[in-house]
Amino acid sequence: MTRVPDEPLRLDFLIKAGAIHSMTGRTYRSVGLLGPQIVAASAEPDGLDDLVGRATAVVDAGGLTVLPAFADAHEHLLEASRNTLLVPVDKARSIADFSAMVHEAARAAGPGSWILTSIGWHESNLSENRLPTLAELDAAAPGHPVLARRGGHLAIANSAALRLAGIDAETPDPPGGKIGHLADGRPDGVLEGGAVYKVAAFAPNPGRETLAAALRAGSAAYAALGVGTIREAMISLDDLAAYQDARERDLLAVRVRPLIRVGSELSAEQAIALIRGLGVRSGFGDHRLRIWGLKFVLDGGVEGGALEQPYTNDPAHSGHLNGDPAAMTEVCAEAVRRGWRVGTHAAGDRAVRTLLDVYEAVVAKTGPVPPWTLVIEHALLGDQALRERAVVGGFGVTVQHSLLWNMGSQMLVTWGAERTRRVSPLDEWLAAGASLAAGTDMARPFNPMTNVWGMATRGTRSAGIQGPEHAIDVGTALRLYTMGTAELLGEADRLGSIAPGRLADLVAYPIDPLAVEPGELAELTPTFTIVDGRPVYDPSRRLS
Ligand SMILES: [Zn+2]
Repeated sequence: MTRVPDEPLRLDFLIKAGAIHSMTGRTYRSVGLLGPQIVAASAEPDGLDDLVGRATAVVDAGGLTVLPAFADAHEHLLEASRNTLLVPVDKARSIADFSAMVHEAARAAGPGSWILTSIGWHESNLSENRLPTLAELDAAAPGHPVLARRGGHLAIANSAALRLAGIDAETPDPPGGKIGHLADGRPDGVLEGGAVYKVAAFAPNPGRETLAAALRAGSAAYAALGVGTIREAMISLDDLAAYQDARERDLLAVRVRPLIRVGSELSAEQAIALIRGLGVRSGFGDHRLRIWGLKFVLDGGVEGGALEQPYTNDPAHSGHLNGDPAAMTEVCAEAVRRGWRVGTHAAGDRAVRTLLDVYEAVVAKTGPVPPWTLVIEHALLGDQALRERAVVGGFGVTVQHSLLWNMGSQMLVTWGAERTRRVSPLDEWLAAGASLAAGTDMARPFNPMTNVWGMATRGTRSAGIQGPEHAIDVGTALRLYTMGTAELLGEADRLGSIAPGRLADLVAYPIDPLAVEPGELAELTPTFTIVDGRPVYDPSRRLS
């Protein structure tokens, strides 16, 4: 934006609110935005009135509280966006629900385009306890081929899908598959085994174009929950191309900081070749889309995390490590030398210990590295000794209370009550002096305030309160979810706080999260969200 030198500064937005929490200790009452930046802030509601011009939108909302937009330290936006391309029939509870969802998807889709459902559904969850019929799918989506895959081995196709796949009354069963038939010999749409793929092969894979469009809807859903930045925790190079398409077409409602996957199936030589072939390094991109680093996965999750002690429900099992620590050390050291940051998934305590061995060996090879160069993702389990090693080594940790929230019941079964209650003890990490950044890892839009409530109460979805002694206060939780992530990104000078010179990423709430009981936060959603100086969520049109 260019201005004539002596022309006074005129704001695009002047926002006055009951409280504007900077996250750096200050509370303002008014904030001024120009283009993508915060350019002014005042402790007085009327302190910036001189900066109002004819084009300034003034939002005078004394009842609202404004925070920096959330910055999610670990989430899978592309996976969440991909899911939006599939009809979510796993949520259907009757054939009527199922048909209505297919109908709605067909109505929204281009003429004649394929309608594909999610595969994680089962007829036992439908009140009729049967599969939908070909006729029902025809009626739900006239003119569209419909393929409703159920799990890996069965699907229902409608007439248009069968026609496009060249399947009629005369088509023989494919090897290892079966085409179902009506009494009169015509196909009934039920496909088993190899027959599923005879039809699925005709359904388009989402290309870059489609993925980019899905990112528009996906990122908007996060913005609607107050998220301004997502550290995208694992993508392929093809996914990166989809992100670049979305960025160029200005479809991303949030900032994205991706991690490129270095697969554990690669040998050290292959992994190093991949890294060398990337040709860029951490930090490449712009303020909307910037590569954070590389991603390694060292163990599994609630069912495969590498534990020091056996699983509670299977004393013969203590999880698995992916790959060899010596090879990983070699690859990480090469990555660091080439200017890459590394984030490694380590859920179980044995994985965290092994990862600390690796990271310490890397630093011994490369010399000291800047903060947040070598990052531990999750560290769900661990003890004081491990926490101290992480702090001494300067290895930051991304934390996701939402994993306990979502999978607490499952953890009680696999890891037992004693280990579950000390999953992600944020209080102990902070007491040890650790660098933490908060996020979700839900692979679906998840309300950050539910996560803040969880951090402040240790509440879960279906496992009650787990380890209430590890709760932290709301202010600290908000700081980890804004400034904490900004530090992890190396962008604390422009993200995660509200001050002149910072990027204009703000979220407004109808109550002050710092002034109410944590219980009031569990279902609190934003009034509006601004990212990069633009309203990305504003259902009640407060910003226009
Ligand atoms: Zn993840």
